[in-house]
Amino acid sequence: MTKYIFVTGGVTSSLGKGIIAASLAKLLQARGYKVTIQKFDPYINIDPGTLNPYEHGECYVTEDGAETDLDLGHYERFLNVPTSQANNVTTGRIYQHVIQQEREGAYLGKTVQVIPHITDEIKRRMQLLGESNEYDIIITELGGTVGDIESLPFVEAVRQLRWELGANNSLVIHLTLVPYLAAAGELKTKPTQHSVKTLLEYGVQPDILVCRTEHKLSQEIRKKLAQFCNVNINAVVESIDASTIYDVPLLMLKENLDKTALTKLKLSNKNEPDLENWKNFLGKLKNPTSEVCIALVGKYVELPDAYKSIIEGFIHAGATNECKVKVSYIAAESVTKENVAEKLKGMDGVLVAPGFGERGLDGKLNAIKYVRENNVPFFGICLGMQCSVIEFGRNVLGLKDANSFEMDANTSNPVINLMEEQKNITNMGGTMRLGAYDCEIKKGTKAFAIYGKTKISERHRHRYEFNNDYLKQYEAAGMIASGFNPETGLVEIVELKNHPFFVAGQFHPELKSTVANPHPLFVSFVAAALANKKSK
Ligand code: GLN
Repeated sequence: MTKYIFVTGGVTSSLGKGIIAASLAKLLQARGYKVTIQKFDPYINIDPGTLNPYEHGECYVTEDGAETDLDLGHYERFLNVPTSQANNVTTGRIYQHVIQQEREGAYLGKTVQVIPHITDEIKRRMQLLGESNEYDIIITELGGTVGDIESLPFVEAVRQLRWELGANNSLVIHLTLVPYLAAAGELKTKPTQHSVKTLLEYGVQPDILVCRTEHKLSQEIRKKLAQFCNVNINAVVESIDASTIYDVPLLMLKENLDKTALTKLKLSNKNEPDLENWKNFLGKLKNPTSEVCIALVGKYVELPDAYKSIIEGFIHAGATNECKVKVSYIAAESVTKENVAEKLKGMDGVLVAPGFGERGLDGKLNAIKYVRENNVPFFGICLGMQCSVIEFGRNVLGLKDANSFEMDANTSNPVINLMEEQKNITNMGGTMRLGAYDCEIKKGTKAFAIYGKTKISERHRHRYEFNNDYLKQYEAAGMIASGFNPETGLVEIVELKNHPFFVAGQFHPELKSTVANPHPLFVSFVAAALANKKSK
């Protein structure tokens, strides 16, 4: 029987529920259990696909094309197991389903209410991934903070589900903050007591408290938390600030979080966790033998969460190269023809980020022109790839108004065009080219040298594409298409022939980089940046 672990958050948001959930899952996986994690978000959007990255950070895309919360990225990076549409559910999706059922007459004669109809639908979704018996344990992270009006139906669903699942088949972990008051020189337990009290009012007694803290929890503090929150003292888990999120599984292991959870679920904890590969990775991450500076040119640079997966991709690739990757965020809008050399001075490689809309376009083009002409390693992702095509069109092919249809629908040279299947789409949500698509790589290209094979699959999230009417012209001038979609002929990768490293993909490689499988494009790009640095 599948067992369920629920993770709630108290006191404040941003405590890192996703990292705690992923770390616990990692430990359970390392002990031989099959685990998956899902996230339930209380907001009304159907999915985060229509949100500006400034709202909730990056939108993470799964293999099956779901636009999801960035925590799913952590789950995949830690577990190396793909997630899917079913792993992220929002209030919007729950209501959409219930309202549609109501229109279809599924509740004829009845008043449709939050309880039981909404909570029933939440419970159904919470158990969906358990139906296949594929997993021993399913961890469900509840977004938001306990006490929020909007998360109430989710907490109520957890209460009901615990009762339905019966003793020993589920547990609740409450992640909370134990703040340190510098003036008093003390850690404070009261906010935790209050947030547990709120949970208790809703009928949910947490089994384990994971306490975010900047200082070690003394035995005395642990005892106080245990006593006032009705938990065993060994169920008070310290989660102290870590230098990297990849330390957290080991910190949780030290605190016996996995053992305590398994004991409560009456599951064996005999198998010691096999974390050898994880520790190897950490060893390399923490003992780099070199360092490179990479510029990330984008328009959401004030909020690093907007580029979460890219940053993590660099961390994985850095460890593989035993090299510290220092990423400098450069606001695309600030890069001009005049200052580009100064802005990119000291950079060993330049990445132009994904994005939407015109803001920052010129800056991206200026950066690309500079790296193309000065042999600086370049890596373009999605809009970054489209920009490299526009830049080449304008400055090498002499197509002065070369542009993307997204930026200028009236250009006479739409080198990046709206995809045929996008032309009649009017709804914005979930309608881009989303999820995994095959790509065939041409032998003898840089892309082939990087991937070492001709058949790959990568995840997408875009509406526009390389306009194949221009392909011959581009290839004759030295920008070649080295990867294609085998069914549609869409160009998926472009690269420059006479450049040490100029590779750009229409897809998002960052979404597939994990600790166990660092992405080859990131690994090669970092290696190229390192080579560039050494040659200086
Ligand atoms: N805005 C571009 C498009 O829709 C690129 C999207 C992206 O970078 N993810 O095609």
